[in-house]
Amino acid sequence: MHSFEDLAAADQEAYAAKFPLLGLTFDDVLLLPAASDVIPSEVDTTTRLSRSITVRTPLLSSAMDTVTEARMAIAMARQGGLGVLHRNLSIEDQATQVDLVKRSEAGMVTNPVTCSPEDTLEDVDRMCGHYRISGLPVVDASGVLLGIVTNRDTRFETDMTRRVREVMTPMPLVTAHEGVSGPDALALLQKNKIEKLPLVDAAGRLRGLITVKDYVKRDQYPLATKDADGRLVVAAAIGVGEESFKRAMTLVEAGVDAIVVDTAHGHAKAVADTLARVKASTTGVDVIGGNVATRAGAQALIDAGADAIKAGVGAGAICTTRVVAGVGVPQVTAIFETALAARPAGVPVIGDGGLQYSGDIAKAIACGADTVMLGSLLAGVEESPGELVFVNGKQYKSYRGMGSLGAMRSRGTAQSFSKDRYFQHDVLSDEKLVPEGVEGQVPFRGPLAGVAHQLIGGLRAGMGYCGAGTIAEMQQARLVRMTAAGLKESHPHDIQMTVEAPNYGSRD
Ligand code: IMP
Repeated sequence: MHSFEDLAAADQEAYAAKFPLLGLTFDDVLLLPAASDVIPSEVDTTTRLSRSITVRTPLLSSAMDTVTEARMAIAMARQGGLGVLHRNLSIEDQATQVDLVKRSEAGMVTNPVTCSPEDTLEDVDRMCGHYRISGLPVVDASGVLLGIVTNRDTRFETDMTRRVREVMTPMPLVTAHEGVSGPDALALLQKNKIEKLPLVDAAGRLRGLITVKDYVKRDQYPLATKDADGRLVVAAAIGVGEESFKRAMTLVEAGVDAIVVDTAHGHAKAVADTLARVKASTTGVDVIGGNVATRAGAQALIDAGADAIKAGVGAGAICTTRVVAGVGVPQVTAIFETALAARPAGVPVIGDGGLQYSGDIAKAIACGADTVMLGSLLAGVEESPGELVFVNGKQYKSYRGMGSLGAMRSRGTAQSFSKDRYFQHDVLSDEKLVPEGVEGQVPFRGPLAGVAHQLIGGLRAGMGYCGAGTIAEMQQARLVRMTAAGLKESHPHDIQMTVEAPNYGSRD
């Protein structure tokens, strides 16, 4: 054996060209403690998610069908993060999910769900259930407000075939004009002891709705990620090509705040082309590209106009890309490489996949991420799609890769919209699919709020140790590389754990 130094200069160059990087991941590094007068509770975790979206909590939920649908996106935005709606469903269904989030709470609903006086109570019940609301303004064909029907009017009704006009509370109602200020609207709700305040124009046409629920939510979720109209912010994933462009336009129409061009290999012409096309065709919507794991890949998406870049190839808990295709970059290096291109361009980086503990969020940020995207850490919360399953008395929720056979396979007449993430849209027979992910389950974790509290609590602690009061300061933190012995020492050792910690579970 010869040592590297013994090699001729040309050979050394050949080695350096063939193996340019050492790939490191979260388990290879630790943050270096530094001088600090930062108290974790006083840390500011506000950060840029994309060029124009700021979040108070640097967490995103993955665009996966076992992680993010409307309910999760609402919960994520309330915690100050953001959900990316998955795309393994029809364009219409995904647009409906966007609509559900945008209508969930607002300073003012500009386009409220309404009913007609001729609708039945059954219709009202269905609409209220779908949008999780407690009542509807009643309008005529030209949009003039006729009354309101709320659960107060319907509570004691047993005949659900009755018409709205028979049970609604008719005009005159307490209303306000469109431009009413927040405090004035609240005063009207309080003074009249009402829960809904319809906003009307001079001709009596319904222009908006303010509900008391939104004021309560404002106090309950002070960190919530909201748009200029006070509605929760939501992103949605698309693929590449013509169909995805159509999807993007429909999502924008439904009010989505950011589009994520979501593929397993973002350093591809099709991704850059789709990103540039969506960007050129929209205003006021950020377009995020990914995934990449190299500086050159990140640069290609920056050149295409990306408003944020998602970093990570093969790091996901359910991912088999690195073993099936032999491709990937350990996640700490992938984030660092991406940031090398993104930082000078002023484009935020999303560290996507591979995070197992709250400390990994702190490490990802120190390596250059502005936010992180989580799949397995969130798949077990109450708000993720899917039912609880019991195994030997313990509760689990399912979690699967979007490149798993289950997600890519068509079911009966149901089409899969997931396989083009792995560039297999041209594979017509399910037997010919080559999966890059697995299907399984993760322990049930209870409501998102508790999980997010632990994740952010860990990040805050990490920032305290590093003397970082802000995310920008945390990005300056330094790290130490460690050996396998260092990792062993890092986890609890020489003890049999008898009590479960809320933020630590062993891996086996
Ligand atoms: P986790 O947080 O480690 O579970 O990783 C979640 C991330 O894995 C997602 O945000 C995706 O970027 C990625 N991903 C999702 N499905 C697959 C798959 O089937 N194969 C590879 N990567 C996947």
